[in-house]
Amino acid sequence: MDVATIELSVEALIGSLLALGVLFAFCRSLLAEDYVISVLSGKTRHSWKSIKVIEQASGFCNVCEILLTPSAGLFCDCCGIYTHSAPACQRRADREYRCKDKWLRNETSVRHLWVHGNLPMGVHCSDCGEEVDHHISTDPGLYGWRCAWCQRCYHNDCHSRADLKGACDFGEFKDMIFPPYSFVAARTRDSMRLHLASITPPDIENWEPLIVIANTKSGSSTGANVLSLLRGYLHPLQVMELGSRGPQDALQWAAKASPRPCRILVAGGDGTIGWVMNTIYALNIKPQPSVAIMPLGTGNDLSRVLGWGAEPPSVLDPVKILRSIRRARSVNLDRFDLQIEKLHYRLPIQRHPIKTIHVYNYFSVGVDAAITYNFHKTRESRFYLLSSRLFNKLLYFTFGSQQVMQPGCEHIEEKLTLYLDNKPVQLPALQALVFLNIDSWGAGCKLCTLSNSNGEPRIVNSISDGVMEVFGIVSSFHIAQLQCNISKPVRIGQAKSIRLMVKETVPMQADGEPWMQGPSDIRLQSRSQARVLKLDATST
Ligand SMILES: [Zn+2]
Ligand SMILES: [Zn+2]
Ligand SMILES: [Zn+2]
Ligand SMILES: [Zn+2]
Repeated sequence: MDVATIELSVEALIGSLLALGVLFAFCRSLLAEDYVISVLSGKTRHSWKSIKVIEQASGFCNVCEILLTPSAGLFCDCCGIYTHSAPACQRRADREYRCKDKWLRNETSVRHLWVHGNLPMGVHCSDCGEEVDHHISTDPGLYGWRCAWCQRCYHNDCHSRADLKGACDFGEFKDMIFPPYSFVAARTRDSMRLHLASITPPDIENWEPLIVIANTKSGSSTGANVLSLLRGYLHPLQVMELGSRGPQDALQWAAKASPRPCRILVAGGDGTIGWVMNTIYALNIKPQPSVAIMPLGTGNDLSRVLGWGAEPPSVLDPVKILRSIRRARSVNLDRFDLQIEKLHYRLPIQRHPIKTIHVYNYFSVGVDAAITYNFHKTRESRFYLLSSRLFNKLLYFTFGSQQVMQPGCEHIEEKLTLYLDNKPVQLPALQALVFLNIDSWGAGCKLCTLSNSNGEPRIVNSISDGVMEVFGIVSSFHIAQLQCNISKPVRIGQAKSIRLMVKETVPMQADGEPWMQGPSDIRLQSRSQARVLKLDATST
């Protein structure tokens, strides 16, 4: 081999390496597409879950028609087809059965997506109106048909008679669904990536889509089950798990649907709900989405006040959940800004940057915050292994009801100076001060209502008047009495603008999140409002 040939082959080698590098970078840019669109444009796959999620927890395999046992059965929580978890059935199901289309380019409608058998209990045929009861067919197996989008159900015969080739109208919950043809994806000029560019509102009356965000790390499986059940009724991508990045990804859908308003169902505790409402505020989504609640936390104070209950329903019924959300009214909820400025009594006096925390439910200083603080510390310790909601409640109650010495909480009035609407307030001997936006504190304790008993002049709580009600608590035993409705809080006053000078380190909490606060100048005032959905009690 002469020198020229060696040079040539080296050049060829470098050339092909470079070409490979470019190809690699190109493929990577394609793979690293925007999350949303990579799901949209990818192959439409089923989303398999154990059939234990479903109340009935039994059904027939759509592939081999044999009855499924709960341990060997899977169902797709998007379209509702069933299969054995054995590869023979599951692979065929993946190959031969369509799931809901996530994204349809250049279309203006979708077809019904018919799924054979395994109908929910007690559904009625959209053709003849009779109940679609499996047992009227003589041999067991797949019976009846259901559309995975509009949820219409038919008897076998009625289904074959009816003309069902036309477009699907998305059924009862059409005003809550993002149709797969409403997404517009585009590539930006400086990147090959596809991203969700916009959402074209569909031609559906009163369309106000629902975004579902669930905290699946709250100790029980309820959050994950809510997601699975609602995915079957809505577009699968509008139903999302709260990731470590927070609700930002989910709220992009609301931002893109603007100027159309959205509804948001948050399945989680008070902390998760606050996180979602803070993110809506930070992203400046206009119009503001209205937030509905599925209570999964320990306190659930906002959920109680807005009519969503103290705990999730024992049986999760997706139709019931969606109907309540539609029935609920959108109302304003004050968003108080808690501005904390740390103080140093040292020369030269330095000004610290002001830290702002949003408060929706309540803010407090003293013994109740100390209890919550200890409760959180216990939960974070390595000795804390159980994570059931019931155990959390027990632990909370134990901390609250025992006459624990909370160092730093006796005579808290000596450590604070309180101004209500710029007037200094003389405080009696206290162990806690509580500022309420909503009349539910510490898992359902109604301080305003309790203070109105025995013919006192009534204090009316409003969640949207920009006013905080201020109460005092004498001891941790007093908290236990209040929780049992056998005592009254000390009335301090009402105010729109609150200032608190803190002279020594004291425990504090805002919406159930506790911390220790050193000397500081604190101001509390409502500067904006969130939108929430309130469910009024029905007469039935
Ligand atoms: Zn099978
Ligand atoms: Zn599917
Ligand atoms: Zn349909
Ligand atoms: Zn029928």
